Amino acid sequence: MVVDHEKSRPISGLKIGIPRAMYHYFHPGLWQEFFHRLDAEAVYSPPTSRKTVELASLISEAEHCLPVKLLDAHVAALAGKVDAVFVPRYLSTLPGHVACAKLGALTDCARVQLRGITPVLTVTVDVDHQPLAETLGDFGRALGGGKKKVHAAVRAALQAWHGASIHPPRLGSTAGFPRILLVAHPYILNDDYFIAPIVSKLEELRIEARRLIFPDKDIAASFIKWDSCNKMYHAVCSLKPSEVAGVIQIISFNCGCDSMTVEFFRAAVKEKSIPYMQIMIDEHTSPGAMETRLEAFVDSMRF
Ligand code: SF4
Repeated sequence: MVVDHEKSRPISGLKIGIPRAMYHYFHPGLWQEFFHRLDAEAVYSPPTSRKTVELASLISEAEHCLPVKLLDAHVAALAGKVDAVFVPRYLSTLPGHVACAKLGALTDCARVQLRGITPVLTVTVDVDHQPLAETLGDFGRALGGGKKKVHAAVRAALQAWHGASIHPPRLGSTAGFPRILLVAHPYILNDDYFIAPIVSKLEELRIEARRLIFPDKDIAASFIKWDSCNKMYHAVCSLKPSEVAGVIQIISFNCGCDSMTVEFFRAAVKEKSIPYMQIMIDEHTSPGAMETRLEAFVDSMRF
């Protein structure tokens, strides 16, 4: 069993804080629905803003990638405001694959950050060893749920996640214009703080921006063993040149996985003769510089 929860008392009636970062974007809607079905109240941290980014730079380790820094800031936003902050330990989200090693340590970092302020509630998600539904079942029972209630909570949580994952990937209102696919880890791609300025600039340039959909079934085995990298790579390898006019990959400064794999993405897209550009983001990314790069990319794509 891979349940590892700090607070094994029933969570019914408690307020559980969910940082709006990282695993929230891996499994959108899932944890909120799960806690709700166990009669707890899920409370999200506010959406990422300039203030979140500034706080992240102040309180987080300078060597972290931006998404990990942001998690620290989202955890801080919930400190003292809820009965427990939920920080799961993600070891794998795909059979045969592992998560980025940084995700495995986030629970311990949160415990240190919140020591003496707010307890951390956690569970280990290791899909390579245990299907997610079973992990949820174990977790629900450990949190005091009866058999029937937990069964219903697991079903509803998985449904909420699958429902959230099929949101239309098209962003903005530029249907019919040349299309650019935005590729990134889910916690970058689905955080509007990063994506909205890119989308609005592309719209201004009369480009339709599409967000990559993360496939969750039938993932081709590849030499990339990091789960979200392989999902991204698999989706990029199955692209058809008739579907997109360009690909923009958004990567975080100090991302170990991307630094190892990004050239494979570039090669896979180039093989299809699709224009490709990388944008690296960190807490100092300037909107002006980003806009100039987008303009240059769209110009070269049209040319
Ligand atoms: S995959 Fe990269 S961006 Fe994501 S947590 Fe790991 S180092 Fe950070």
